[in-house]
Amino acid sequence: MNLTHLSFDLPTILTLVVGVFAFTFVRYVLFSGLWYMVSYHWLREWFQPHKLNARYPDAKTILGELKLGTLNLVNFGIFAVVILWLQVKGYTQVYTEVERFGWGYLVASLAIVFVVQDAYFYWLHRLLHTRFFMKHVHGAHHRFRNPTPFAAFAVHPIEGAAEVAFRPLILCLLPLHPIAIGIYVVASFVINVFGHGGVEVLPRGSTRGLITGLFNTPTHHYQHHKYVVSNFSLYFTWWDKLCGTEQAAYHEEFDEKAISLDDLLPEAPAPAPELIASCSARISPLR
Ligand SMILES: [Zn+2]
Ligand SMILES: [Zn+2]
Repeated sequence: MNLTHLSFDLPTILTLVVGVFAFTFVRYVLFSGLWYMVSYHWLREWFQPHKLNARYPDAKTILGELKLGTLNLVNFGIFAVVILWLQVKGYTQVYTEVERFGWGYLVASLAIVFVVQDAYFYWLHRLLHTRFFMKHVHGAHHRFRNPTPFAAFAVHPIEGAAEVAFRPLILCLLPLHPIAIGIYVVASFVINVFGHGGVEVLPRGSTRGLITGLFNTPTHHYQHHKYVVSNFSLYFTWWDKLCGTEQAAYHEEFDEKAISLDDLLPEAPAPAPELIASCSARISPLR
């Protein structure tokens, strides 16, 4: 792969802004829309016991999420231009030959991106919860107390810019291969949509597991929307644990809504009444 032929001129900038905006919009509407249709409509009955808030938001609220989310996508276009400029000037650490650092590094670099972004988000999020930013910026996201998959990008554009700014920063600090970048982009998007989905999809007991307990769940972020003052992290639970901001009833509420083995097994059909009657008739003479 050759990244040296990139140029920073007006046609490239315009193509990039429009292309990135269109791509992120289609991805947002299709994936959030699909998860919404599956969990809120097509399989609504099955997902109902796992719905974190028993109420279903009205169309006006969902449209509000979609509008704010779409406005925020402009940031992805703008920051793509910033990244292009950094790349053309030679400031990023992007490398294209896997052999340069090996596959082990490629996997480790991906893990590092998630760990660093989680720390970046946690402290940015704590700042956003100070009185001034909550009133003027972050309150826009907290309007949605009962979020749907469309709330994933529904933040004030200033907050969106601060969050997306992580991307050029990490590209300048850490050598990353396009494969790692691609996996990160897809995984962070999917996690964000499920995190705002409003339904728990993980197995019961996983928040108490040694390894599984390190990862956030849809319940974790739903509780942030519900209680506002707890569960600030993005991917991992350690910052909330360390700083004493984990919701007290996190594990209990998670287990209440999580998936259990019984949910996945088909229900055994009830025996026909004639069968019960014939069995009792056969048993009674023996008494
Ligand atoms: Zn918040
Ligand atoms: Zn949220």
